[in-house]
Amino acid sequence: MSKFINEKFTSLEEYTPGEQPQDKKYIKLNTNESPYPPSKAVVKAVSKAEIKDLRLYCDPECKKLKLAMAKLFGVNGENIFLSNGSDDILNFAFMAYGQKGAAYPDITYGFYSVFAELHGVESEVIPLRDDFTIDICEYKNKNKLIVIANPNAPTGIALSLEEIEEIVKANPDSVVLIDEAYVDFGGESCYKLTAKYDNLLCVGTFSKSRSLAGGRLGFAIANERLIADLEKIKYSTNPYNINRLTQVVGTATINDNDYYLKNCEKIIKTREWVTKELESLRFFVLPSKANFIFAKSDKISGLKLYEELKEKGVLVRHFEKDRIKDFNRITIGTDKEMKTLIEKIKEIL
Ligand SMILES: *Cc1c(COP(=O)(O)O)cnc(C)c1O
Repeated sequence: MSKFINEKFTSLEEYTPGEQPQDKKYIKLNTNESPYPPSKAVVKAVSKAEIKDLRLYCDPECKKLKLAMAKLFGVNGENIFLSNGSDDILNFAFMAYGQKGAAYPDITYGFYSVFAELHGVESEVIPLRDDFTIDICEYKNKNKLIVIANPNAPTGIALSLEEIEEIVKANPDSVVLIDEAYVDFGGESCYKLTAKYDNLLCVGTFSKSRSLAGGRLGFAIANERLIADLEKIKYSTNPYNINRLTQVVGTATINDNDYYLKNCEKIIKTREWVTKELESLRFFVLPSKANFIFAKSDKISGLKLYEELKEKGVLVRHFEKDRIKDFNRITIGTDKEMKTLIEKIKEIL
């Protein structure tokens, strides 16, 4: 840090992303990317002509992409917001709606507390129950920004649509942000409820189920007035924050939705298989509706397993936080990758 930085940032603890090794040495099960490539139509969409057009600014309204998404989700364009990854949208939401503070679980996506600190938003951190589920009663009548990842990360545990609706209903004077980064792997999306509730902000991403983590594309579905707030902030920071190639690739992704649905089904099947395998090795595995599982063994510490797997060429994610330090978060890869994982774990044990 230099002596020139604004004082308000000196104590800010930034988010630590998962390791992104730049060689291909590892089986990479640490940041919940899809093991499957983008569809053929997506690869074809990146033509020479599109690359030549990079000299021109991109469409700040992302009209084509929005139209494709509006059709797929059955909503209007004015109910969709697009940005440079969903992290961008979370950032904007803390900026826009955090004036009375924010409430979120103790064990959840690590970025929420960073954005809260960044924007001087007072945080109410609500502990999960002992079994790592969310007690929705704790989120009623809060009158502050509520942020819930559904399914939650890194637990993978999901709330039902009815439970989400209860929270939304019980907070009519504040925004309820549901982060659905993992919803396509067995959860229930709340986007349809946005037609009924003007305080519900449903946030999604192309990074996990749509194989586009490196393309950086996130979206929100909500009442048009909430979307207008987010647009206001986007146009006050960087109106061109979704580049031309990502707009083209994102549109092709939406137009090839079935390919991605099939991949999700494959991932769910693999998840169920890996869960059984780990359970037969006496692991405790939380019930996951995501493209990862959260698991611990009483034979080896979380850190030790992480380190030994890395040594053997398999990267998983370990968190230092006391309550979850016995666990590892393991992304669901291809069947072949997961077979290797199980083999390596057997060797280690
Ligand atoms: C991965 C993830 C995101 C971030 O997604 P991007 O669109 O890649 O920025 C948001 N929320 C949760 C819970 C995630 O796990």
